[in-house]
Amino acid sequence: MTEPAEGPTKQTVPAWSRGWLEIRQLATGRGNCALIIAPDGTSYVVDVGESHREARSSTAPKPDGSRRPGEWAARYIARHLPEGGRDRIDYLIATHLHGDHIGEVGGENGVTGPASADGSYVLTGIPDLAQHLEIGMLVDRAFPSYDYPQSLEDPTVSNYRNFVQARVHGGGSVARIEVGATDQLAPRTDPQAFPGFSVRGLAANGVVWAGSGNHTRSLFPDLDQLPPDQYPTENMCSLALLFSYGAFRFYTGGDLPFATADGAESWRDIETPVARAAGPVDVAVLNHHGYVDADGPEFVRALRPQVFVGSGWDSCHPTIEVLARLLDRRLYPQDREVLVTNMMEENRIVNRRLDECGSDEGHIVIRVAPGGSTFEVNILDNSDEEDRLLKTFGPYQSGRARR
Ligand SMILES: [Zn+2]
Repeated sequence: MTEPAEGPTKQTVPAWSRGWLEIRQLATGRGNCALIIAPDGTSYVVDVGESHREARSSTAPKPDGSRRPGEWAARYIARHLPEGGRDRIDYLIATHLHGDHIGEVGGENGVTGPASADGSYVLTGIPDLAQHLEIGMLVDRAFPSYDYPQSLEDPTVSNYRNFVQARVHGGGSVARIEVGATDQLAPRTDPQAFPGFSVRGLAANGVVWAGSGNHTRSLFPDLDQLPPDQYPTENMCSLALLFSYGAFRFYTGGDLPFATADGAESWRDIETPVARAAGPVDVAVLNHHGYVDADGPEFVRALRPQVFVGSGWDSCHPTIEVLARLLDRRLYPQDREVLVTNMMEENRIVNRRLDECGSDEGHIVIRVAPGGSTFEVNILDNSDEEDRLLKTFGPYQSGRARR
């Protein structure tokens, strides 16, 4: 196991520079959010979560509750975007339409953000981020109809849809993810400069990349064979992405589950075929934050990463069973590190193996060196905006499981 250099110190990680791939999993305490900067400087944001779960069972907002999660995320992202482009993101991608990924409206704590300038939506999560930073293209799983597997109408989705409508009316670009393709999310700043870098739409809406070219296959049964109460869930429809840079691979897949009602409905295991389509990776974000219905044995075995990244914000992130599986060397024998953005003390009471995680609080920053053959992982303090370096893991050689 790699020994981290313990902090805290006053240093932070070097700013992104051309040729590096940088992946920053933010620790806002309120849901999923990641900033990814491609070797040419193209920027990707995956989700801007704002969960309104009550404090008893979820982590505190970070750095604190004085700003909304989307505001904190916008400020973090702006100070780490490449110099000269700090007010603009090329791609903002919503993995699926839940509040801890796009921004909740209503919910348990009842807090509601301010209205947008035109009054048509509330500033939360993605709409909040878009208030602060210009977005080149918004990509989700359901644009433009938002009717699969059935019309999506709850307050959180309605708010997001109103934001999308306002954006379209204002001439903004919005698209549905193209599964299998690598050209939809292609680098934009200097597209020809780094041919070893790509972003593939790996899965969405039960369609998964077939493993070659742009070919895909469908995993869900025809909806007309199912009663509406057995339709695929929103989590099952999550989009997944595979980032590649030379030998380096990174997987992120929203809240894809594997639970099959104890074998009664095998088609509901979506994450296994998606993980197999990805193949071994170097860094994998846990599906569904490490919750009980996700990160099954075949997910662990197929991806076999050197580093698991958990986007934690709830007392079940990760659960005992999931953590045991992540650490199980019978699933794959090599070393691995489990890092979680935010963890609740309450989780430790029942899940003592959490001490085996390399980090339980802080932004997780993966820096992939030019060419992609090596990377390191850094943990940054999330209690303020100084971004102090707390720990470093690595360097790692990319592509371990594919050699
Ligand atoms: Zn989630």
